[in-house]
Amino acid sequence: MSPKSSAQLPSLFTIATLGSHSALQILKGAKDEGFHTLAVVTPLNERLYSSFAFVDEVIVIPRYGDFPKLDKELNKRKVILVPHGSFVAYLSMEEHKKMTTPYFGNKSVLDWEADRMRQREWLTRAGLKMPRQFTKASEIDRPVIVKLYGAHGGKGYLFVKNPDDFTARASHLLEQRYIMQEYVLGVPVYIHYFYSPLTGKLEIMSMDRRYESNVDSLGRIPLADQEGWDIQPSYVVIGNQPISLRESLLAEAFHMGEAVVRVSRELCGERGLFGAFCLETIVTPESDFFLMEISARIVAGTNLFIDGSPYSYLNYDEPMSTGRRIARELRNALLSNSLDLVLDQSSRIQFDRSAASNGESVAVPGPGVPAN
Ligand code: AMP
Ligand code: AMP
Repeated sequence: MSPKSSAQLPSLFTIATLGSHSALQILKGAKDEGFHTLAVVTPLNERLYSSFAFVDEVIVIPRYGDFPKLDKELNKRKVILVPHGSFVAYLSMEEHKKMTTPYFGNKSVLDWEADRMRQREWLTRAGLKMPRQFTKASEIDRPVIVKLYGAHGGKGYLFVKNPDDFTARASHLLEQRYIMQEYVLGVPVYIHYFYSPLTGKLEIMSMDRRYESNVDSLGRIPLADQEGWDIQPSYVVIGNQPISLRESLLAEAFHMGEAVVRVSRELCGERGLFGAFCLETIVTPESDFFLMEISARIVAGTNLFIDGSPYSYLNYDEPMSTGRRIARELRNALLSNSLDLVLDQSSRIQFDRSAASNGESVAVPGPGVPAN
């Protein structure tokens, strides 16, 4: 290979993802960091993704579920996959894990994330508060939310008032496919983090609150007019709104992120959770954070901040989305000859190390956030 300057190095690699969810943010960030970019799309999305100048290449597949069939082809090239919510929504866990194309993140975390009982163990071991959980209808002594497994954007969730309500509306559901949680009244705050295995530092990238139909619209109709009208709240996510947290709550938000990363190293293999993740919380009037869920990858709420957020601006003097932060990490890993630290171990790292570093490694620039 002819010697390339460090600045040109990322251009030898392609960052690829499925054309959906947060792909535009990821690919824009990849381009900004100097990578070649690839979107894998369905026919409906081809023209949209091709219309962006930062998308260098598109590959069309009939359905997102066909993505694993590209594994061999992608593996022949210097491709790094950046996963997002559609990987979980459209690929089975088995297929997802079987792929050997270099993959940003740690796939062992998927087993812990996909199983809500294991998530609970992870989050409670990290000292975080979780809503009370019920296993039988007869135990229900307060309003609960019945939540299906998997990332379906709140689809099919049920608000259940009492045991009779459960029998009437939810008893047809198979037990292993849902959990029943105490309904926590408060503000849903989704905190977007990035943990760098290269610098050992955690950053809060941004935050959002979700906008869900119809639950977020019920307040638009006076209660008196709702009476006699059989309205059931639903939690289907429609979009996201930015939120900045009361600053006195920020330290706790930061500590929660640190604790989750620390415990992940005990539970999900020694490398634990790294890269982008999100803690999905409800904050009560007592200012307590109740954890609904953890997402172990970039979440769609970060799409609000393609141009950076008030929080990312505190660490960077340039627009820094979570998508770009991922690409920056990959770039830093390439430049410091430590790509294996940021890729899943299933990744068949066929990248020629000398090609990846020019033989010399470069110090990784840290963002200056206190180490955890
Ligand atoms: P989609 O490609 O829009 O179907 O998204 C794939 C999965 O990501 C969906 O099943 C949702 O669970 C999740 N998702 C998509 N957009 C959002 C969003 N704005 N907020 C939260 N989750 C989302
Ligand atoms: P999740 O799939 O766990 O992220 O939840 C999707 C949405 O359901 C949240 O944004 C909330 O609006 C609602 N939700 C989930 N769990 C609870 C809970 N324990 N109490 C109240 N609302 C909840």
